[in-house]
Amino acid sequence: MIRGTHTSVQDVSLYLHIPFCNTKCSYCAFNVYTNMETHYERYVSALCREIEQVAAARPSNHRAAAHTLYIGGGTPSLLEPDQISRLIETCRRAFDLRPNAEITMEFNPGTLSLAKAQAYREAGVNRVSLGVQSAHQKTLDLFNRGHSFADAEVTYSLARMAGFDNISLDLIYGAPYQTLTEWAATLETVLAWQPEHFSMYGLTLEPKTALNAWVQSGRVAAPDDDLAADMYQLARQKAQFAGFHHYEISNWGLPSQESRHNQQYWASLPYYGFGAGAYGYVNGLRWWVLRPVRHYIERVEGTTVVEWPRSPATEGFELIDQEMAQAEFLIFGLRQIDAGVSVTEFKERFGQSLWDVYGDELLYWKERSFLHLDGDRVRLAESAYLVSNVILADFMPDTVDEA
Ligand code: SF4
Repeated sequence: MIRGTHTSVQDVSLYLHIPFCNTKCSYCAFNVYTNMETHYERYVSALCREIEQVAAARPSNHRAAAHTLYIGGGTPSLLEPDQISRLIETCRRAFDLRPNAEITMEFNPGTLSLAKAQAYREAGVNRVSLGVQSAHQKTLDLFNRGHSFADAEVTYSLARMAGFDNISLDLIYGAPYQTLTEWAATLETVLAWQPEHFSMYGLTLEPKTALNAWVQSGRVAAPDDDLAADMYQLARQKAQFAGFHHYEISNWGLPSQESRHNQQYWASLPYYGFGAGAYGYVNGLRWWVLRPVRHYIERVEGTTVVEWPRSPATEGFELIDQEMAQAEFLIFGLRQIDAGVSVTEFKERFGQSLWDVYGDELLYWKERSFLHLDGDRVRLAESAYLVSNVILADFMPDTVDEA
């Protein structure tokens, strides 16, 4: 069982990537493109074909139902409701999407009307993820978000008016020039909206992004890591005070409103990824799909034979061997703050004891008070949340040797 859900481990998850945005954010390293409106319709048709082809190629013993669908991007709310409806219906037919499936769609501020929000809901979307990022215009401008905070407020209200009762907000902290006071104000303002869920990410400077280039050239100040750490702690306090369950390092939900889709990733359970640049992981195989939209469309349209579980537009793939699967199970598992990693489940899944495989590393971090080992569970200690990347990297194969 995935914690907090009522589904069996056999269920799969589906991710659809919509690689279109109105503007490119300065920090964004996702596979997204602007000014491609003329491709939307053909892209949706290719996505439907890809979903159907992969589903049809499944062997009879791998025809599990899907219990979550995540339509992400990019900006899926640039698509028309009838296009979203076609995508959901295709998943429903091809993957036997469960009647109570969590169906999340990402909205961006300024891309919604009430009628559009209602139509998405009628199409089957029952959870919204809204990219708010900041309540301050100077940060939104630095991020080149292309919208104001007022746009985010309006979009949130429209989603509520349309009847969405499960809304998650994305926020970013640790931006250049962002003060602790501003971050506190952002948190207080959006907490007062009473969303069901938050994802809060520390800004990272990704290679080949505009923001990274600005910082490297000295045009923009570098983010302050110590200040970002204070912002994270402040977010934890305020979210806890507001009744949120801090269930993953960067995620908070009201009780029973944790993201079922993301829990599938964190539990190393299977998911199919569709669309340009998407990743999938099924039956021990990870694959990734061609990134350029035109190449993706042409490949899907031109392929008739699919090698399950891969996409017809696969760019590359790798077999995840036992060593890597164990490392990922531990690393993603430890990110789940309360659940952590079950010693029993590790043994059931891999046929080896967690202690035999990772005993030295676990004791090393326990002795430094970064891990709790109690009963059947291994969990990160609070002191580890801000340095989790360093600790979790220690469980990757060959990390120590390479250092
Ligand atoms: S809206 Fe999201 S996906 Fe689009 S450019 Fe901005 S960060 Fe990237």
